[in-house]
Amino acid sequence: MDFTFTGEQEQFRQELRDFLAEHENPEWRGLFGSNSEEIIPFTREICQALAKRGWLTLSWPAEYGGSDGDLWSQMVLREEMWAAGEPRGPQYMNLNYIGPMIMKFGTEEQKQRFLPPMARGEVIWTQGFSEPGAGSDLASLTTRAEDRGDHFVVNGQKIWNSYASSPADWCMLLARTDSSGPKQAGISVLLVDMTTPGVVVRPIRSMAGMGEINEIFFEDVIVPRDSLLGSQDDGWPLINYGLSFERTGIAMHSRAARTIDRVIQHARSTVLDGRPLSDDPAVRARLADVYCRYRAARLISYRITSMVEAGEDPVAEASMAWIHGAQLTQDAAAAGLDVLAAAGQLLEEEEEAPMNGAIEREWVEMLAMTIAGGTSDIQRAIVSQRGLGLPRAR
Ligand SMILES: Cc1cc2nc3c(=O)[nH]c(=O)nc-3n(C[C@H](O)[C@H](O)[C@H](O)COP(=O)(O)OP(=O)(O)OC[C@H]3O[C@@H](n4cnc5c(N)ncnc54)[C@H](O)[C@@H]3O)c2cc1C
Repeated sequence: MDFTFTGEQEQFRQELRDFLAEHENPEWRGLFGSNSEEIIPFTREICQALAKRGWLTLSWPAEYGGSDGDLWSQMVLREEMWAAGEPRGPQYMNLNYIGPMIMKFGTEEQKQRFLPPMARGEVIWTQGFSEPGAGSDLASLTTRAEDRGDHFVVNGQKIWNSYASSPADWCMLLARTDSSGPKQAGISVLLVDMTTPGVVVRPIRSMAGMGEINEIFFEDVIVPRDSLLGSQDDGWPLINYGLSFERTGIAMHSRAARTIDRVIQHARSTVLDGRPLSDDPAVRARLADVYCRYRAARLISYRITSMVEAGEDPVAEASMAWIHGAQLTQDAAAAGLDVLAAAGQLLEEEEEAPMNGAIEREWVEMLAMTIAGGTSDIQRAIVSQRGLGLPRAR
């Protein structure tokens, strides 16, 4: 197995770096780093500029606005975007799993309607899955969509919805259409226009910033039948398909690599007692430790790409990648804080803050990574079942 990128792919990486340097924005603080009002215009501009070059939906088929690119170039794109703090903003979700779900399960009319605007970088989607009583146990969701023939009437509440207040144009909503059977049955996936009367978004103040996560309330919301994705009552396989794409679509290893690089540069250029900090054996050991884990996390991601290329379905591997990648982003930031010691505590408003407070921010932002997209406990449960073949926990 050889995971070396081709010359062409490395050239593409360089072109992406040049593109990102050209579009550098001093206000940009990373995906979770600024409130929506500040980041959205910038992320739209980036997405549309990427779309013009055919890079936004690189690996999508040309018929839906993609460039028919190969999966390894897509990996390069992902790595460079995440290393740069994911300047595609909320739209990375369209590309990672919302678009692919519509491509796999949508009618031709739905594909023609929803995919080209995503490929042009024009729309923001939010994910309406979690509820106050249904997070890890997603199948317990109670938001109802009543079948009224040519439309559904939706009532209920969602929570923790990223970017809903950006504002999102569309919501991929999970709703219960039948309560008579087991809880995994009777769930349907609806594509809901967020401007429909009865949809109300309430931004939540969180450590990630105002409005990064939200609540969405649905009161007698009318959703046309042609907005049903896949079969009615049989949304559960779609959810699993989408979540597995979500887990593999984020190059967390390259985000961690950026943190490690930043700390190395700081350690090289900081002199203590007449010696660079990078000479300190404890600092070197700490950085070497997270670097080893970065290399392992990267290999798992590459392995997944090769499985997808071979037509395999990497369910357990997607969870393994998420466990490693999420923990690594946190540990790389924690290692950075250790190396910076007291100076690492400074917020970016402080003139003396090393790297403008980037490591402190990274540490705060990455705390969400072991929760969002399914907690690490849930990922381990998936690995025990799908990877180790153990029976489902009761
Ligand atoms: C920043 C952020 C963004 C998010 N964005 C979205 C979004 O856009 N859309 C959306 O729908 N949701 C979103 N979420 C919600 C996320 O998917 C849930 O928070 C997550 O699934 C966990 O659910 P919960 O918070 O209700 O915790 P709970 O499910 O209540 O879990 C509490 C604790 O119990 C553990 N636990 C629960 N069940 C088990 C089990 N069976 N085995 C072992 N341990 C278990 C969990 O690991 C956790 O430690 C987001 C969350 C965050 C933090």
